[in-house]
Amino acid sequence: MSTATAKKKQNGRAVRPLKIRKDDMVEVIAGKDRGKRGKVMHTLPRENRVVVEGINLVTRHQKPRSTSRATPQTQTGRVVKPAPLHISKVMLVCPRCSQRTRIAISFTSDGKRVRTCKKCKEYIDSV
Ligand SMILES: [Zn+2]
Repeated sequence: MSTATAKKKQNGRAVRPLKIRKDDMVEVIAGKDRGKRGKVMHTLPRENRVVVEGINLVTRHQKPRSTSRATPQTQTGRVVKPAPLHISKVMLVCPRCSQRTRIAISFTSDGKRVRTCKKCKEYIDSV
C-alpha cells in the first residue's frame, strides 16, 4: 500500500519524496537570488536539494585535461553552472495562480495522490 513511504532509510531517516519535482517552477526566497524564478532541472531527494535553471550560479574554472577521449561537450576555462540549493530556500510557484505557495497532498476520487495549491486549491499535478 504505502510504496512511496517505504523507501530505503539513510542515517536512520526515511528519504521522503520531495514536494518539488523536476520541471516545476520555483521562486527563491532566501540568499542572493531571492525573488528570482526558475525551472527545476533536477532534484536531489537524499540531500533535500534542487538544481534550478539560472539560480545559484557558480563559476567553475575547468582545467583542460589531456585525456585522449575528450568529448565535444567538455568545456574548459570558465564554466558557469547552477549549484544545488536547499529545498527550504525555494517555494513552488503554482502553475494555475502563479503565486508562490505551499503544497497540500490530496487524493482524487480514484485514489491518486496529487499535489494541491494551498492558495487556489487547484491541482498542481495533472490528474
Ligand atoms: Zn494556485
